[in-house]
Amino acid sequence: PDPYLSARKSDLLDELRRYQTMFERGALGQLTVDYPSFDIGAGNRAMCAMTGYSAAELAGMNVAVIIPGDHNSGAETTDQLVAGTVDGYSVERSLRRRDGTMIPVLSTVSAVRDDDGRLLQLLVLLQDLTQQRLAEQVQRRSQAVIDAAVATLPVTFTTVDRDLRMTSIAGGLERAGTRVGDFLGHHISEFTTDPESLQALASALAGVESTARTVVGGESYMTLCAPLRDGGDVTGVVSITTNISAEVSAEAKRREADELRLFMAHHDALTGLPGRSWLIEHLGDLAAAKQGAGALLLLDLDDFNLINDSLGHEVGDAVLLDVAGRVTSAFPEWTVTRYGGDEFALVAPFTVERADAVAAAEGVHAVLDTDMEVGPHSLRVTASVGVALGQGRSASSTLLRNADSALSHAKDAGPGQYRLYDAAMRRQVQHRLEMQGGLRVALGAGELSIAYQPIVDLARRDIVGAEALLRWKHPERGQVSPAEFIPVAEQSGLIVPIGRWVMDTACDDVLALQRTHGIYVSVNVSIRQLTSGGCAEWVEEVLARIGLQPCALTVEVTESALMDDIGEIRTAFNRLRSRGVRVAIDDFGTGYSSLSRLQQLPVDVIKLDRGFVTGVDVRAEARGMAAAILQLSAAIGAGVVAEGIETEAEAATLLDLGYTHGQGYLLGRPMPIEDLAARLRAPLDYAVRELQ
Ligand code: C2E
Ligand code: MG
Ligand code: MG
Repeated sequence: PDPYLSARKSDLLDELRRYQTMFERGALGQLTVDYPSFDIGAGNRAMCAMTGYSAAELAGMNVAVIIPGDHNSGAETTDQLVAGTVDGYSVERSLRRRDGTMIPVLSTVSAVRDDDGRLLQLLVLLQDLTQQRLAEQVQRRSQAVIDAAVATLPVTFTTVDRDLRMTSIAGGLERAGTRVGDFLGHHISEFTTDPESLQALASALAGVESTARTVVGGESYMTLCAPLRDGGDVTGVVSITTNISAEVSAEAKRREADELRLFMAHHDALTGLPGRSWLIEHLGDLAAAKQGAGALLLLDLDDFNLINDSLGHEVGDAVLLDVAGRVTSAFPEWTVTRYGGDEFALVAPFTVERADAVAAAEGVHAVLDTDMEVGPHSLRVTASVGVALGQGRSASSTLLRNADSALSHAKDAGPGQYRLYDAAMRRQVQHRLEMQGGLRVALGAGELSIAYQPIVDLARRDIVGAEALLRWKHPERGQVSPAEFIPVAEQSGLIVPIGRWVMDTACDDVLALQRTHGIYVSVNVSIRQLTSGGCAEWVEEVLARIGLQPCALTVEVTESALMDDIGEIRTAFNRLRSRGVRVAIDDFGTGYSSLSRLQQLPVDVIKLDRGFVTGVDVRAEARGMAAAILQLSAAIGAGVVAEGIETEAEAATLLDLGYTHGQGYLLGRPMPIEDLAARLRAPLDYAVRELQ
């Protein structure tokens, strides 16, 4: 025998055994299938285990018995295999076992050809996919459960690996209109560049759970980032994102409402400037700080009521707005607030020298010194300015009080003036406070009394009435002029109890003389009493209690007080008049009442101020005014009384002009009620006594 051939044969046999062993012991099911019969040549052990058939049973069985269906007709791959275009293929099939049950398998078919390439046999490897399918199914199912659960929550779960690439995402996708595939494997930076979110991810990677808030497309999100661990190592991050827009907007609304409430409480709705309460707080803050407020300027528009009355509130509002704008832009470093109706306050939150404060006050006048166009009107307004300089950390109340008294001094000086609070004012304030204290006890201590000044028929020189004038005999200072203490009483509110006492006493004092001589009593009433609720009622009550006829009482209100809210005054006047009480305007000609204002007010008497009476016989302009005011009174149907007649010449001139009644030292000084009674009883005796 050829030694080469026998060696070769033994090699081949060895190889065949090897292959046979591999075939037989292989972990996968293996079959040889003859072509073109598709009968099984042999099946290995694994195949027997998989199918439940023995090797003997498998041998010669058509492969279609265990792998039913279309592996020839339907599977193009088999045809391709036959045609020689491919040498193998894999396909998932179902394997029918001996007991009839079917299991999923992956079938890998390879061609065994002869030297000419003709197909001899098919070698089929079958891998049981049952376990894999089950696992897949479990995973699919649980994924479906998670997805379903997640979908009901307004959250998105995302996981990223250490390189911040997305490894999974669930929930919220449908709503966002995106698919999982759009995210997976992508770097997180493709989806967010928000520094807070990236910081949270980085912290989580470092092992620390953290949160981030973001706003995307107007929606607010909260993301919780937590480290994903494998053993001790952080392998990635799981982040849970929740849409918190609803909570955020509810919170924002609440905050907004709170802020608005706060703003409204502190700010003026017209100008948007902070108001008085804010200013007081602000001054308090400054006082608490190191240096305190440098200066406070109070600015009060002159005759603002005239604008309101004659041109209407809309024009008034526009003027206020204009002033607010001018002042705010002219004093960018000062804090401007609306202090009251037509008052503004400017605070310097820095040290201010006296000269700078003066410059600021002049600056206020300067910014107002051009016309403002309000609709068809071209207006020019002036302001009175009171200035108080801060002394270190002076208390806010002191600063306000000082600026306020400086302002009233400026007002007294006429329109367009400013005053700095100084030592003289301080003394005056001191004096005022002392007087207030004295007045408080005066009523109870019997220091108050009333003097009656006759009101006389100028032609006949008969007494027709008497004005009640309050007197205060201070225990140390003696007689104090009402011109001095009435303003103090008005400011402190003491005017209300004092005014009631005057009304009571005057009505009571005059009652008897009213009955015997038919005179009336004229009582001065402060605007504060008049507009404090129920004024007409208490007057009515006094009259009823004392038994004085209402027509025997005239109430005098000084003209300058009529600058206040006209509506309120008119109501008060009407209430008094409807009860039969007469109303007089005192000191007429010194205030600034316009004709339109007067026409709105129902009045019975106008009292010509002494300023037009003194020297009326020699001063042409006084005479002119006296004549004009008489005409005005006639036009509104009011009677007239000329005040402060001191000479016969004045009396004669006034009588000539057409004045019917007068009052003054010539006709009678203010006197105790007993003296008035005596004079009424014996006018001649009285006159003689006066002459002596
Ligand atoms: P009035 O109501 O205009 O009173 C007239 C003032 O002129 C009185 O001053 C009176 O004494 C003074 N007088 C009268 N005739 C002459 C004159 O011929 N020459 C001069 N030079 N003066 C004359 P009086 O009594 O000092 O009162 C000042 C002001 O005080 C009053 O002005 C009035 O507005 C107010 N007043 C007085 N009593 C009361 C009161 O009971 N209540 C209120 N609210 N105010 C009062
Ligand atoms: Mg009077
Ligand atoms: Mg008067």
